[in-house]
Amino acid sequence: MISEKMKVLVEQSSVIRAMFEEGKNMAKLYGAENVYDFSLGNPSVNPPRQIKDAIKSVVDEEDENLVHGYMNNSGYEDVRDAVANSLNTKFGTNFSYENILMTVGAAGGLNVVFKTLLNPGDEVVVFAPFFGEYRNYVSNFDAKLVVVPPNTKNFMPDMEGLGAAITAKTKIVLINTPNNPTGVVYDDATLKELAKVLQEKEAQFNMPIYLVADEPYRELAYDNVEVPYVTKYYTNTIVGYSYSKSLSLPGERIGYLVIPSEITDAKDIISAAGVANRILGFVNAPSLIQRVVLRCLDVNVDVEVYNRNRELLYNSLKEYGYECVKPQGAFYLFVKTFDMDDKEFVAKAKSKNILVVPGSSFGCPGYVRIAYCVDYDMIKRSLKGFEELAQECK
Ligand code: PLP
Repeated sequence: MISEKMKVLVEQSSVIRAMFEEGKNMAKLYGAENVYDFSLGNPSVNPPRQIKDAIKSVVDEEDENLVHGYMNNSGYEDVRDAVANSLNTKFGTNFSYENILMTVGAAGGLNVVFKTLLNPGDEVVVFAPFFGEYRNYVSNFDAKLVVVPPNTKNFMPDMEGLGAAITAKTKIVLINTPNNPTGVVYDDATLKELAKVLQEKEAQFNMPIYLVADEPYRELAYDNVEVPYVTKYYTNTIVGYSYSKSLSLPGERIGYLVIPSEITDAKDIISAAGVANRILGFVNAPSLIQRVVLRCLDVNVDVEVYNRNRELLYNSLKEYGYECVKPQGAFYLFVKTFDMDDKEFVAKAKSKNILVVPGSSFGCPGYVRIAYCVDYDMIKRSLKGFEELAQECK
């Protein structure tokens, strides 16, 4: 008999699972080339060539015990040192290996942070729309997710809403930029405002409020837009990074946390996070791929492939009358469903073999998420369906 808590979680995750199964069935029924699956955030671009080379070199050249063995729960020191130096060069920061904890992707990193900081009943504030898994990660530690309603004008964070959401129980404010599902990037002015609200609230409640910046899409930004480094704006910031999207390695489960020495209780948090990594069962981030990313720190996927998809899909949908903020990063469009219920819209889209995710899964009904990390030609083939959908739903 599964636990009461899991019963609820299994029920809730059935929507996305059902869509995944549906996609496979539809491909069998209509032929894969006639099904347009925009539901998953799985990178479509191959990992850069350097990854394959680095895997071979690590396996051929490095000490086997080192490559496959246990290590410090926080990761190999030389890898953490190189990550810190790379960040310092890029962002003018002053991190050392002690500030870096190698994690099992962004998901592993967030769970480590939550395990480290949250008591049952503590509150984690997020801005809608948000990555739906946050709800589950917060519930893992019996904390409460507090949602700031969406600012549908431009999907930038609503500072008044943030001020109203923070209480004496707030431990963490969680942001995600570039954002899944909207693609917006928080600019300098936005981060300054955010920091101001948080500083005021820290003073009002006389307690630290940690800003956790979830950044798996940091490298996927378009039109030379700057993605500012959040630790520069607000002292109590922890950054979660992942190579899942920047190197197209989601299955390898590799990322890191940055826990700066300047945050309140830094020493305790750094050592507790290492223990959390171990006792959550991760033990340490996968060893071989840690050694691979060490050799590929300044390598990224070819973002132009996603950019081409973004331009085609965004421009076409706008032409058909859809409302959507042009994404500056990540690989999603968040599109208004005219005045139709989002789940109804998803069903209608499915009748044209188009699979998209309802905005309600991201805490923002009335929209759908379209993941454009797909084949360019599939987008082209899908456009007729999107055009017909617009005509029927307007
Ligand atoms: N955070 C956000 C906003 C995401 O979109 C994802 C994955 O899509 C994750 C975290 C999890 O990333 P990872 O695969 O690195 O654990």
